Amino acid sequence: METQKEKKHNWLGLKLGITRKLSIIFLFFILIFYGTLVVLFLNVQQMIKTSEQIVGINNRISELSTSMQESLLAMEVNDKKYRLLGKEMYRGYFESARTDFEAALKGIVGLESPHYRLSGRWNEICKTYGAHPKGTGLKRKGSAWAREETVNGWIRDLTKARLENEIEIENALISINARSKGSLKKGLLGLGLSVLMAVLGVVVVSRSMLTPLKALTRGVKILPGNKTAAMVETNARDEFGELAAAFNEMSRQLKEEEDLRSDFIASLSHEIRTPLSSIRESVNMIMEEVLGPVNQKQQKFLHIADAEIARISDLFDHLLHLSRLESKVQQVRFLPINPNRLMAEASEILVPRAEKKEIRLTLHPMAEPPMVMGGEKEILQVLLNIIGNAIKFSYKGGTIDIHTLAAPGAVRFRIADDGPGIPEGEAALIFNKYYRSREIRNHMDGVGLGLNISRKIVAFHHGEIWMENHSGKGCSFYFTLPCPVEGQQSGMDENVRI
Ligand code: ADP
Repeated sequence: METQKEKKHNWLGLKLGITRKLSIIFLFFILIFYGTLVVLFLNVQQMIKTSEQIVGINNRISELSTSMQESLLAMEVNDKKYRLLGKEMYRGYFESARTDFEAALKGIVGLESPHYRLSGRWNEICKTYGAHPKGTGLKRKGSAWAREETVNGWIRDLTKARLENEIEIENALISINARSKGSLKKGLLGLGLSVLMAVLGVVVVSRSMLTPLKALTRGVKILPGNKTAAMVETNARDEFGELAAAFNEMSRQLKEEEDLRSDFIASLSHEIRTPLSSIRESVNMIMEEVLGPVNQKQQKFLHIADAEIARISDLFDHLLHLSRLESKVQQVRFLPINPNRLMAEASEILVPRAEKKEIRLTLHPMAEPPMVMGGEKEILQVLLNIIGNAIKFSYKGGTIDIHTLAAPGAVRFRIADDGPGIPEGEAALIFNKYYRSREIRNHMDGVGLGLNISRKIVAFHHGEIWMENHSGKGCSFYFTLPCPVEGQQSGMDENVRI
């Protein structure tokens, strides 16, 4: 059954591939981006409308009302002057001022439209001015063209209407200001959301790609030489999930085939070793002339046969050892071991082989070495494999230095030779099963299992093993073995697979 955690990772339980995820994120991004653009566009439209109104109507009203006020004052002055001085020109000035006044008033009233409602005060002025009798004109002697309080009333109304218009302009400017600030905020918010969406998209998509990719890389790395099938665990339900499933299937099949091969090799080795021992014994008996005299030529061929049988026995010993390490539950007796003693023991066993090639084996034991914990037989096997290789691959007359060195919480062994070293590009492969350098494959014995067995043994002891080339002047093999921590007991580690 699917767990809560799995559901959470599966994008609300939907089966979404990378393309769909990308499309959804892109869609959201586009929606936010264009949504912001639409909001900004509407705001700008509104601001244009308001500023058009200010430029087209309010400014015009302001202009016309100023002209009305000036005309009204001119009418008043010319009326007084005419009545006082009786000059006809003042009557003319009065009439021209009145025409201007009426034209301006008409202009203002004409600005009203379904989109713009004029302040009621203008209609009021229009009404009272319209009601005033016009035909009377100016009188040389007698009363003024209009009563003083009527004119003062118009002036008051005009001033108020102008004030209201100015307040309207101010309000419109405030509204433009507020809208531009709002637009800026909305724009920034939209921008922020788009960036957030883009970042979120990158994180989600890269996570959904990187997590299974990392798991796959880990799986591929541990695939060679893994005891159990390397399985990739991922909750991804996209293309990577399918890739992981295919990888798991491949890994399981490989493991099955590997197990089959190991079993086959183990039983084959076992079956062949017994008749091989009988053949070797028979050959030895013939060589030792137990069955009758043997001439020199026959001796020579018997020696060749003996050497070949020894080589084949060696090969089967290796194969059997490896299959035991891989498939059997092996008991390892964990004891504190003096690393210097083990190093000396390994070199003692191999000195005759080194002397045959005139190779000088030098030991560099560390002073007061701490004990290491492990299986003595197994660690000795590692040393024999690595020093044995150094002797095998070094040139005649070469030198091999073996060190025990202090390392944090461990002892480090170093086996350095001045032989050919490992060819560039092959260094990463030497610990793999059956790996043998291309250059020596045709002219040297070996099966390519010694280092693989050594790596398994060292890993079982929680140590590390690695190799460093000396740039054309041989190479050094290192491995570490941890020192026992306080209170650690020696004893048998029973159910352990190496
Ligand atoms: P084998 O020795 O049976 O071939 P190993 O697993 O011990 O198998 O070694 C694997 C390969 O690593 C060797 O075939 C050889 O190419 C390379 N190798 C190991 N040790 C050395 C060394 N000291 N110098 C050069 N090459 C080495």
